[in-house]
Amino acid sequence: MNKGLLVIGIAVIGAAIYFLSNDVGQSLETSGSAPVMAAPEPTVGLIDDARIIAADDEPGNWLSFGRNYGETRFSPLTQINRETVSELGLAWFKDMGTNRALEATPIVVDGIMFFTTSWSRVYAVDARTGETLWSYDPKVPGEWARWACCDVVNRGVAVYKGRVYVGSLDGRLIALDAGTGTEIWQVDTLVDRDRPYTITGAPRVANGKVYIGNGGSEYGVRGYVSAYDAATGEQAWRFYTIPGNPADGFENELMAMAAKTWTGEWWKVGGGGTVWNSIVYDPDFNQLYIGVGNGSPWTRVIRSPGGGDNLFLSSIVALDADTGSMNWYYQTTPGDNWDYTAVQDMALAELEIEGEPRKVLLQAPKNGFFYVLDRSDGELIAANPYATVTWATHVDLETGRPVENPDLDYSKEGKWVLPGPLGAHNWQAMSVDEAAGLVYIPAQDNPLFFDMASEWKETGVYKHKPKGWNTGLEFGRLAQVVLENIADQPMPKGYLKAFDPLTGKDKWSVEIPHYWNGGVLGTEGGLVFQGNALGMFTAYDKATGDKLWEFNTYTSMLAPPITFELDGVQYVSVLTGTGGGDLFGGEPLPPVAEHASLTYSNEGRLLVFKVGGTAELPAPTIRDRSIPERDVAGVEQASIARGEMAYNENCAVCHGFLVRSGGAIPDLRRVSDETIAIWDQIVIDGLWSAKGMAGFGDVLTRDQSVDVMNYVLARAEEDRLVAAGEKEMPQMTWLTGGD
Ligand code: CA
Repeated sequence: MNKGLLVIGIAVIGAAIYFLSNDVGQSLETSGSAPVMAAPEPTVGLIDDARIIAADDEPGNWLSFGRNYGETRFSPLTQINRETVSELGLAWFKDMGTNRALEATPIVVDGIMFFTTSWSRVYAVDARTGETLWSYDPKVPGEWARWACCDVVNRGVAVYKGRVYVGSLDGRLIALDAGTGTEIWQVDTLVDRDRPYTITGAPRVANGKVYIGNGGSEYGVRGYVSAYDAATGEQAWRFYTIPGNPADGFENELMAMAAKTWTGEWWKVGGGGTVWNSIVYDPDFNQLYIGVGNGSPWTRVIRSPGGGDNLFLSSIVALDADTGSMNWYYQTTPGDNWDYTAVQDMALAELEIEGEPRKVLLQAPKNGFFYVLDRSDGELIAANPYATVTWATHVDLETGRPVENPDLDYSKEGKWVLPGPLGAHNWQAMSVDEAAGLVYIPAQDNPLFFDMASEWKETGVYKHKPKGWNTGLEFGRLAQVVLENIADQPMPKGYLKAFDPLTGKDKWSVEIPHYWNGGVLGTEGGLVFQGNALGMFTAYDKATGDKLWEFNTYTSMLAPPITFELDGVQYVSVLTGTGGGDLFGGEPLPPVAEHASLTYSNEGRLLVFKVGGTAELPAPTIRDRSIPERDVAGVEQASIARGEMAYNENCAVCHGFLVRSGGAIPDLRRVSDETIAIWDQIVIDGLWSAKGMAGFGDVLTRDQSVDVMNYVLARAEEDRLVAAGEKEMPQMTWLTGGD
């Protein structure tokens, strides 16, 4: 049976098999066994290819993920400008009822705003008032959260010919009626439901097709992207990004070619290469560009012990949009060794190069180099560092390959490397100002201490952890390893830059005290908007980087702002709420530590601003940061040590290393006595799986669950003593993550 195609016409069948739990969120009337008989004729959301191609003719709408097919995120609107921005105020806001991260780009068309929140929920709201017109909950099974590296996030919908398309966290692609939210069809996009795949990215639409990829490389999966008929959901094609097990036969000659760049038994872990974010359609060449993710496991000596480039990991791949066959590829990080995904947003532009206009593709992947490629053939035009890069010295423009820094080879000895796995830039969108030849980019320096797993160092063997994190690093002791080497850590920083991708020079650069800041919007009004980790929504002069306006949202932001115009009034909008995976969370260093917004709770809200807006946010809720006293004097040290390993391997990527959560997911140092009383029912039996806390009885014994609890309580008591000044401990920087 073809698991990727569960559609007959527009009838929905077999949906019940997905719903392991129906306890999360709203009811789902349309996805039971009863087929939807007839799709109503669409009356709203009538976006088509021609409208997206001519997006500049209707700048009042935001028609697609990156505003236009080029995904430049630069708006022609000018009512909000350098002069009027000082009068910018809140027009309205909407509480979304979640404290998980919000990452979506809203689509605005003909007065309606379509966007997603946590758990892949979809909302259609009146863009003038925020009134909910309809909402849709795909009923993601709560336990699927365990397969999401970086929280139960979603980056948005596509709207096309009266339909709204969303990918659900558990791997379904769903078409809704744009006017009512009624489900039209849904398909299972996963090739293997026993592998921990997720969807967090926004689908893209073009040429009558919907395109979607998925995530999961950290856990061990094989990446691919699929195209479906937008009207019926029938699968049109599928492109695998890496080869599978040769014994099963390759799908095509391309996979046979790619397999020559791999060694060992990569398919057992999965290999990686997921397409979890960027998929861009180019009408000039009828091409689709996909950004391919990192290797699984991260470390290449384990993944592909005989070397090799490992195609098409960390690559930009151009596909024929009709057939899914490859036209060209460019690999940004051959033999990826650092989680250097190339899934970051891509933008299409026409830039003047040596006096000639050239159609180019722009991308700032995690690895710290900004790539300019010729869209016709993938030729490398420029690759300049846009943040601090230590893993490579430069990209050789002759060979098109990075020149790695041999001093930072961590296969024998651990090293601090920049960028770390969070990337010098991640999925938080950049904005391209074609006329100025600049990109406004949220960049960051955030290192990681890369160190091979002890088991591999000692035995030369790395045991694959099915459905667990498979980095190949010393993950069980990651926090300890980082602390042991904290004195040498390069200082993490955030930046917003106006960057010339051809020369590699900054026109301006604004340092932001924290990293992991939000996406960017540029406008013809001369402004660059960004929400940051400190909770400030800020407008900068795009010519100088001078801060012209800011608004305290009391909540950290990741989502990219958008702008639209209705009844002659221009609006700017952004979603608030951070998260996206917390590694070392919750205890920021000075001067960030003093910033009030980080003590506020993580309010998921949609904010909409206009000139003269007078709405006010409610007073912020202050996060309780106190840690209850625990008597752990009698707890066996060996149990705490075992608990640390088990916690780091299974719990830390959500609840935070050192048991310090970034705030979106419960901080276990503050666990209540009532929760402790039912600890193993939660941890082992999955008592709270509907809420997103899956049971871990398949990988942890009850004794190990007690070890984890002992570690959590010991850590809590240690931090309580540190906070009270009764104990000293090295300072840990605040590190959050994403995919
Ligand atoms: Ca990754």
